[in-house]
Amino acid sequence: MIPMLGEEEAQAAADAVRSGWVAQGPRVAQFEKEFAAAVGAGHGVAVSSCTTGLHLALVVNDIKPGDEVIVPSLSFIATANAVRYVGATPIFADVDLATGNLTVETVDAVRTERTRAVIAVHQGGVPFDTVALRKAAEGWGLALVEDAACAAGSTAYGQPAGTGAAIAAWSFHPRKLITTGEGGMVTVDDPELAVRLRRLREHGMNVSAADRHASKQPVLEAYLETAYNYRMTDIQAAVGLVQLTRLAGLVEQRRAFAARYQELLADIDGLVPVRDPAYGQSNFQSFWVLLDGFRVSRDEVLTELAAKGVSARRGIMAAHLEPAYADVTPAALPVTERITQESLILPLHHKLTEDDQDHIVGVLRELAGR
Ligand SMILES: *Cc1c(COP(=O)(O)O)cnc(C)c1O
Repeated sequence: MIPMLGEEEAQAAADAVRSGWVAQGPRVAQFEKEFAAAVGAGHGVAVSSCTTGLHLALVVNDIKPGDEVIVPSLSFIATANAVRYVGATPIFADVDLATGNLTVETVDAVRTERTRAVIAVHQGGVPFDTVALRKAAEGWGLALVEDAACAAGSTAYGQPAGTGAAIAAWSFHPRKLITTGEGGMVTVDDPELAVRLRRLREHGMNVSAADRHASKQPVLEAYLETAYNYRMTDIQAAVGLVQLTRLAGLVEQRRAFAARYQELLADIDGLVPVRDPAYGQSNFQSFWVLLDGFRVSRDEVLTELAAKGVSARRGIMAAHLEPAYADVTPAALPVTERITQESLILPLHHKLTEDDQDHIVGVLRELAGR
């Protein structure tokens, strides 16, 4: 992923610096408003990353030590780590082979009486089945936190992927579609939840530093609970506001490249490219290809691509296979292990050309022996 950053972002960041207001201030407030509107959420609360956003999502759901939170192992490791930040236990559930996402069945399979919440990921931009999973979570009495780190610009049931989520966390890391360098957002519909999230990201203060500064009267703030400094800066938000205007165009371009990959790969035996699920559309933040009876191993494919100047990556990681989770013995996760070991992510970024794609697919075709 190569971030699409232009002169406008540089100018916006410079303007923020010249304004003298560099910490959380008016640009953050504006970015929150515009991002929430873009994803169909009532309120946006900007934070320092998606990881810190996930942490706050668990805090506001009152997840504590002794509680179990179901997460996919097939995700960037931050999804599982957030559960440990609140002292709870991550329970790994398997995923669907086609989407790489949790389903009602895989969550149900690992649910216990200690389960309090589920963090579902829109993996690599492929939306999970929002209607089915939200309904099931509600029926089970579980909080559903949506890890929408990769989902800006994806849709489910004709709506932006986060629309209707009780709480969703988004990322603006440079590996995502739009970036603020580092940064994240929590979106909610409930206004009281938004107030609590704003407080939690800013040391538990009942008045934001920006509001206190803007007030003509002296304002005596109170610190209502032990909280965090998870704020975004106005320099970041200035960049984010410009990035947001690029989102639709970036998604359109990525979907066109993805469609072209799907077409070019269609007649190569043993390669299954990721596709839109029936209920939604991916932003194709990650374009992965599953090896299904391919002639050579995944790692040999990666080596050969690298030798031909193509920087493909291994498939999405599985947290339960990492040393940080060596102390966890999950239930069998056959689909997760299959996807992480048997898939690779092909280059897809705004500088990609059709010639690049032809070259990449040519290498794969040669490996397939045809
Ligand atoms: C990137 C990513 C994160 C972490 O996002 P940060 O903003 O870097 O903290 C969390 N979950 C998923 C699924 C991601 O892809």
